[in-house]
Amino acid sequence: MSGELCEKELAGKVALVTGGSRGIGRAVACALARMGATVLVNYNGSRERAMEAVQEILDAGGRAEAYGCDVSDYDACGRMAQELLQKHGHVDILVNNAGITRDNLIMRMTEDDYDSVMDTNLKGAFNTIRHFSRVFLKQRSGRIINISSVSGVTGNAGQANYSASKAGLIGLTKSVAKELGSRGVRVNAVAPGFIDTEMTGALPEKVRDAILAAIPAGRAGTVEDVARTVAFLAGRGGDYITGQVICVDGGMTCA
Ligand code: NDP
Repeated sequence: MSGELCEKELAGKVALVTGGSRGIGRAVACALARMGATVLVNYNGSRERAMEAVQEILDAGGRAEAYGCDVSDYDACGRMAQELLQKHGHVDILVNNAGITRDNLIMRMTEDDYDSVMDTNLKGAFNTIRHFSRVFLKQRSGRIINISSVSGVTGNAGQANYSASKAGLIGLTKSVAKELGSRGVRVNAVAPGFIDTEMTGALPEKVRDAILAAIPAGRAGTVEDVARTVAFLAGRGGDYITGQVICVDGGMTCA
């Protein structure tokens, strides 16, 4: 089979990527579009960046559109699901990527730091899964890929809120995988390590250097490193994989 045919294994599929306006989400959106999927690029604040991501996909001959929705808003996610289904008739791949950090030591962490991170990172994924799982069940197929983090696997000082949200995503992934597995729906988590994006770009150089020194692969990850794994799970590679957490971390978490 030619490389081109392999690339189009998601032809006819519709994928929603939350937080697809920049960083890892944007790379995932582009990767799924290259495989032939029509990609719905969700954003919250960055409308222009989302439009740029859509344009990049259109310029490459793919199909994409932007959709603004705050994933922490349950009803807004319901409206997004309804509108996307009305327009496309089906949604096949859901990538819960939207996420934020509000880092601080536990003794200094405010209630708002905690709530906002949990609302976006964990409840956001619940909101979309809750609204899209009905259609996946009806279709008897679907892929849900939740972007967790190595912080949710090992914990991380200064990130109690973030680590709790990302560990929660792993529990959510495994539970929903068990509930929907017999109906052809595959649910997995990808846990990136230290990936070069705006999120990690905000870290002080000293912290960054210390993290890099602890990565066996000897470098930070790229957004494409993560996108390739998500694309694998979304395609035929993920046919018989469910309830798993795949760390894309250059060995950060290896024992
Ligand atoms: P960025 O900060 O670069 O991008 C975050 C994305 O999430 C943006 O597209 C943003 O959209 C979107 N977003 C934030 N809040 C909401 C919301 N309420 N509703 C909808 N979209 C929202 O982050 P990264 O690309 O670095 O991270 C992407 C995911 O990967 C996150 O879940 C993060 O926790 C996870 N991760 C990242 C790692 C890294 O090293 N970078 C490591 C491990 C995990 P907008 O700008 O439109 O608001």
